[in-house]
Amino acid sequence: MNSQLILLLIVFILNINVNGQVSDKIKKETKNQSLYALDLCKYLHQHPELSLKEFQTSKRMAAELKKIGLEVTENFGGNSVIGILKNGVGPVVMLRTDMDALPMEEKTGLDFASVIKSKDASGKETPVMHACGHDIHMSVLTGTLRTLVALKKEWKGTLMVIAQQAEEISGGATNTIEAGLFSKFPVPDYAMAFHINPELASGKIGLVGGSAFAGVKTVEIVVYGKGGHGAYPEKCIDPIVIASRIVLDLQTIVSRERSPLEPIVVTVGSIHGGTRPNIIPDEVKLELTLRYYSFETIEKVIESVKRICKFASQMAGMPDNQLPDVKVLPVETPPVLNNIELSKKIDGFASEIIGTQNVLKVNPTMVAEDFGKYGLTPEKVPICLLWLGSSNPELLQELEKKGERPAPLHSPYLKPDYATTIVTGIHVMTRNVIGLLKADK
Ligand SMILES: [Zn+2]
Ligand SMILES: [Zn+2]
Repeated sequence: MNSQLILLLIVFILNINVNGQVSDKIKKETKNQSLYALDLCKYLHQHPELSLKEFQTSKRMAAELKKIGLEVTENFGGNSVIGILKNGVGPVVMLRTDMDALPMEEKTGLDFASVIKSKDASGKETPVMHACGHDIHMSVLTGTLRTLVALKKEWKGTLMVIAQQAEEISGGATNTIEAGLFSKFPVPDYAMAFHINPELASGKIGLVGGSAFAGVKTVEIVVYGKGGHGAYPEKCIDPIVIASRIVLDLQTIVSRERSPLEPIVVTVGSIHGGTRPNIIPDEVKLELTLRYYSFETIEKVIESVKRICKFASQMAGMPDNQLPDVKVLPVETPPVLNNIELSKKIDGFASEIIGTQNVLKVNPTMVAEDFGKYGLTPEKVPICLLWLGSSNPELLQELEKKGERPAPLHSPYLKPDYATTIVTGIHVMTRNVIGLLKADK
């Protein structure tokens, strides 16, 4: 063995030791912080707020960040809170949590279940529940920051924290970006977030390099007809028949027009038309959700939707000035495209603290997350959103034996394994930050 090789080996072994020591320190410190984070989580779980109404939640998050020592800006682009913590010269790492809950009644039977009611956007009273784990996200982030402050000697650089409003309705990230996030605050070198995943056991995380969460476009269609008495179809043009044909023809976009290797979803989620059995209505309304990964493909899918609507209507004899209105809504969620280099780094850091066997490579999903927007601004910030396993492993095994799955996100029965999920989240996120902001030794 030549001397150069021996030197490399020594550096390698020393590095493992140093990394191992960092993980030991994190684990030791997390013992102090995880109970605090769990208590915070229970409090947040009992006090959920709907999207754009995160008034108390954002105040609480601002207070937590101030207590930790961050410089806090409140009400940034709505209810979002931005926190900055400088610790010497080094890169900038952004960590983001969402804060909003969902309009649904909790049925978990937990002793800290939510009994909160609130008014939704239409003014109707509705129960509210943290059924998407954003309570855990806020708590893990708080626990991570508390751990990082206790281990300040282990890293150098700037932490930039976003407690973001309105993830569920996909406006929150846009609001903070449009309020000047990357001009009023430093442009991050890396941005990370995480989301609980009941399909994965607590203690594990799931990583996807590249396309991770799908983009969403919502389309509203109004199909016009010529209404009249249901007994005189020959005097009418029935928009219910045209709409039915459109719904079936839309199914051929994915099955016949796009490559089977391209992930695309076309779902007609609502169809409304008519009032009585004996009246042919004047119009029928359809609402669609489209899911995609490629910006080029989604434009072609939208062209197909428009073409199918136009010709179905013309075929029924509708004149050119009464063809369907096809409106693509301006609020949209782009795909989350995880930076491959960053996800590889996270893979290494996470494996080192929770073990390689607990860092799973998972498939992309067709659900959406508005975190992707932070990676698509002109600043081209490398982003990574990882899954945080949240189901009790024994419960998962029991369910698997019976051929069942745990309650999914947005279920009134969603019951994460809070303690282990929170500890794992703090371990992994703290290790990631320290890895990215490694202090010079
Ligand atoms: Zn959600
Ligand atoms: Zn969510």
